[in-house]
Amino acid sequence: MRTLENSVLSTMMRTPLTLSHLLERAGKIFPTSEIVTRMPDRSLHRYTYADFYRRSRALAEALQKAGMQPGDRVATLSWNTSAHLEAYFGIPVAGGVLHTLNLRLHPTDIAYIINHAEDRFLIVDDVLIKLYEAIKDHINVEKVIVVPLTGKPVPEGLTSYEDFLATATGDFSYPDLPEDTALGMCYTSGTTGKPKGVLYSHRSMILHSLGSALPDALNLGQSDVLTPVVPMFHVMAWGLPFTGIMVGCKIAMPGPHLDAVNLLDLYESEQVSKTAGVPTIWMGVLQALQKEPTRWTKLLPMEMVVGGAAAPEAMIRAYDTFNLKVVHAWGMTEMSPLGTVSRIKQNLAGSDPDILYALRACQGMPMPMVEVRAMNEHGEVPWDGHTMGELEVRGPWVAQSYFKQESERDKWSADGWFRTGDVVTISSEGYVKITDRTKDLIKSGGEWISSLDLENLLMGHPAVREAAVIAVTHPRWDERPLAAIVLKEGASVTTEELRAYLEPKVAKFWIPDAFVFVDEIPRTSTGKFLKMQLRDKFKDWNWE
Ligand code: AMP
Repeated sequence: MRTLENSVLSTMMRTPLTLSHLLERAGKIFPTSEIVTRMPDRSLHRYTYADFYRRSRALAEALQKAGMQPGDRVATLSWNTSAHLEAYFGIPVAGGVLHTLNLRLHPTDIAYIINHAEDRFLIVDDVLIKLYEAIKDHINVEKVIVVPLTGKPVPEGLTSYEDFLATATGDFSYPDLPEDTALGMCYTSGTTGKPKGVLYSHRSMILHSLGSALPDALNLGQSDVLTPVVPMFHVMAWGLPFTGIMVGCKIAMPGPHLDAVNLLDLYESEQVSKTAGVPTIWMGVLQALQKEPTRWTKLLPMEMVVGGAAAPEAMIRAYDTFNLKVVHAWGMTEMSPLGTVSRIKQNLAGSDPDILYALRACQGMPMPMVEVRAMNEHGEVPWDGHTMGELEVRGPWVAQSYFKQESERDKWSADGWFRTGDVVTISSEGYVKITDRTKDLIKSGGEWISSLDLENLLMGHPAVREAAVIAVTHPRWDERPLAAIVLKEGASVTTEELRAYLEPKVAKFWIPDAFVFVDEIPRTSTGKFLKMQLRDKFKDWNWE
């Protein structure tokens, strides 16, 4: 009889899947590839992968010298720039955890997130120093490093990023990191309650990068020029900084300039071939192109990945007229983020154009290694394209828990699937289509707004008896909040007063664009707000 040992065949090397490999590859194989950044003054900063390699390693060494221990969190409060890219690599290759902070959140939430993550170091762009000043008395970080994007002197008591890099001598050597070591973290507000931290590992990010580059995913190679418009504080810019550096392509970063004209200028001057962002950005770019229709002739026939919210079919069609291809993808912070991408399968390529557009407008097919199923009260729903269920996912780049948040265990099923909160149908061809959302949240321009938080705040106003906040489709922002208000007997309040009341309490973009005064809010038999009825009533709201 064969022993167990004999039957275990020796297979491949157990080389850990860690980021140091990508950084070494960048420095050795692609030293001349370019990285371009639009600076705050709109000038273009250029350098090569050779510079990026040297400076990322210098950051890694400087952090170690400053006492960073494996697993320490290093936060960034930054736009998409080459310095941020250095942090993306320099922090994790030294064993630290890159914690990207969403600069659009209310300062109170940013401070909460920094404290919850127990960040030890903070790297902040000088153009965001005001935001840092708004939170500095509420956080406890050991060292604040300021990236001098404008060249202005760094405020007293803070360290200049350039001085910090200068503390490195150049003899950095990579620590041996197991592939499951945490590489980065990102907080999501895409669920109810406080923001929740998701930790990515070196392994998950390497596998995600390999998957993302595939032709039927984001289709990236070394001859591409990549512009991630999606901020680097949103799920690691959808992993694109890692995928881009892995394939060795030129990267053109928009810095703080995300408006349509600056983006079109960048696409034109750098001859960008791949770009990615939320629908709001692409709606703006589309309008600018329609105003100046000859402009597109100076662009490459780019692929524009859109995700974070549903891509309207009309937008996909409109871009086709400019020879620009919208590729629709779906993902989540909890999924690194790529889950599905909508590409046309070969056997469907000859279908009627309307069918093809409908396919491109749905969320698409699961990525390799990502499993999907949709569940309703009877169990898994059939893949028939019309039975709805909550989408659940499983795979090597899907989170298995939230950081220090045991109360959220019910987001994972007993058999280990993650419940997304998105309600979908799945077709027999494997295309996922989102039809609704179970989370009571509004997604405006790619950013979450909690309807529950708004309701609680509004119900704290002395004139308000009840408030229900719903998402209503908006042509520019995808969704905007509308508040239905029931006043207390004899009380009165104006829309302006309600706005002014909310202003100091929430981020500006949270404030509802519409307040509607109603006699009562419809309720379910159990007394909860019947939001479906409200959503239906206000679905054709005129925002003008
Ligand atoms: P986040 O974690 O902030 O990236 O948000 C993830 C959520 O955004 C998903 O669960 C969806 O509700 C929504 N979402 C992301 N991509 C899409 C898409 N392509 N279409 C519709 N909703 C999307």
